[in-house]
Amino acid sequence: MKLSSHYGDGRFGLSFEVFPPKTPKGLEALRGHVAELMRFKPGFMTCTYGAGGSTRDKTLDITASIRRDHGIPVAAHLTCVGSTVDELRNYLSEARDLGIEYIVALRGDPPEGQERFEPVDGGLSYANELVTLIRHEYSDFGIAVAAYPETHQEAVSADADLKNLKRKVDAGADCVITQLFYTNDDFFRFRDRCASGGIIAPIVPGVLPVTSAGQLQRVISNCGANLPEGLFRELGDATDDAMALDIGIAHTVRQAQELIDAGVPGLHVYVLNKSQTTSAILSQLTFETH
Ligand SMILES: Cc1cc2nc3c(=O)[nH]c(=O)nc-3n(C[C@H](O)[C@H](O)[C@H](O)COP(=O)(O)OP(=O)(O)OC[C@H]3O[C@@H](n4cnc5c(N)ncnc54)[C@H](O)[C@@H]3O)c2cc1C
Repeated sequence: MKLSSHYGDGRFGLSFEVFPPKTPKGLEALRGHVAELMRFKPGFMTCTYGAGGSTRDKTLDITASIRRDHGIPVAAHLTCVGSTVDELRNYLSEARDLGIEYIVALRGDPPEGQERFEPVDGGLSYANELVTLIRHEYSDFGIAVAAYPETHQEAVSADADLKNLKRKVDAGADCVITQLFYTNDDFFRFRDRCASGGIIAPIVPGVLPVTSAGQLQRVISNCGANLPEGLFRELGDATDDAMALDIGIAHTVRQAQELIDAGVPGLHVYVLNKSQTTSAILSQLTFETH
């Protein structure tokens, strides 16, 4: 099944991303939050793959259980970090056996303490190689890849990063999901550059609502995106948590509605394993899923 089937021709593709909780209590809570989010009729859900493969089994379990519990298509993330090609194949075979429809194919970040990404012996160096492996050996999977409207932090230039994205799409990815960003103009410029560069897969903006200045700073430093000064100041000036929450929600509502009105094919929401903030935002947006 193709991921691209969720977008275009009047379809608006809504997807949610969760991560594997560390504790059984967190896992139980996640079930409730996922159930709550179903009222927004997401086209699919995704679950991340922890740094260095630390959540390998949990990623597969959670992804498969969402599919089982809610009957919607799901995507398991997979990175090249710390895995040989055979280990990647084992994961992909398990995912296929569990009925998982899609893979979000990534290179991953260098492990802690390592400045540059180094593949293990018999491993892969870049996400496009993982896409090629999946397309050739597991051709039934729909494949999403990552993109960076503000350019990936290790890329030698924005053009080189765009060429890399094209390489991933040409290798067989059928959907592109972006890193979070807070300034829509960055996304619009990126979308135009993708179009000029001949990248024809749907470019789906990733949106991560933040509800405090500290959280915004952490999120930004984790992924190397640009700090939105205005939002950061507004959140910092909030006199209590409830006020900061309202500011964060209002910002994402404005950001997401502007993206929708500008014709994006869908939205990928980084829900951070909680349904309340995402629900408050989605209830205020005007769009139709099919
Ligand atoms: C939607 C989304 C989901 C994510 N999910 C996860 C997750 O579940 N787990 C996780 O650990 N991380 C996740 N990440 C983070 C991601 O792993 C990091 O951003 C990582 O640093 C890059 O991964 P990539 O797949 O984009 O790498 P690549 O596409 O391989 O690119 C990595 C860097 O190498 C450059 N490059 C690529 N090919 C070449 C080449 N041939 N020669 C020279 N340079 C090249 C690129 O320009 C870029 O700078 C996610 C990111 C996004 C946007």
